[in-house]
Amino acid sequence: PDAGPQRDRVVTEAEWLRRWETSNIGFHKEQGHPLLQKYLDVLLNGRSGLRIFFPLCGKAVEMKWLADLGHSVVGVEVSGQALKEFFAEHSLPYREEPVPEISGAKKLQSTSGNISLYCCSIYDLSSSIVGKFDGVWDRGALVAVNPCDRQRYASLMITLMEKNSSYLLVTVLYDPNKHKGPPFYVPESEIKSLFG
Ligand code: SAH
Repeated sequence: PDAGPQRDRVVTEAEWLRRWETSNIGFHKEQGHPLLQKYLDVLLNGRSGLRIFFPLCGKAVEMKWLADLGHSVVGVEVSGQALKEFFAEHSLPYREEPVPEISGAKKLQSTSGNISLYCCSIYDLSSSIVGKFDGVWDRGALVAVNPCDRQRYASLMITLMEKNSSYLLVTVLYDPNKHKGPPFYVPESEIKSLFG
């Protein structure tokens, strides 16, 4: 299908915050994503103690899974409510601190130190702030990015990846004439041109 009909659609930050406020979060999966279980070996590739990035993380329970496996998890999310719900729902104590490099941003870090969630826009991040990652779990992230921002998003993600990192990307296939998204339809050809 042609992705054309969704090309100019924009979902604002305020709209995302409102979705969290009104619990309009049908994208959240209480049970975690079966595809992460299925492809966990691909993500880890025999390695342990990885740094794993969750772009546009929401309160994805997979962050807890990976932390429990001994990895260090970093996420970014505009909704502070989402991040607080994440820690509360897993009974994880955390502390909150400002991020000196990003005005208005906060970092919520589990007391145990292995889960750090940035409350800001992903476009405010850079590798000098968050470092680079050995693995990425991109579910509800590229497909949630406004179509006009995809190039910027992908270029940023590439700068956040270590040389031998693995990137698991979940997309959805449907007729973009029938739904306005998000999740947006991202054609395979576009994924190739974005990430090479
Ligand atoms: N990946 C999560 C959430 C998917 S929904 C999951 O699998 O459940 C997309 C999320 O991205 C929403 O929680 C929204 O608040 C957040 N978001 C949207 N634009 C963002 C941006 N520019 N920077 C950071 N987070 C953003």
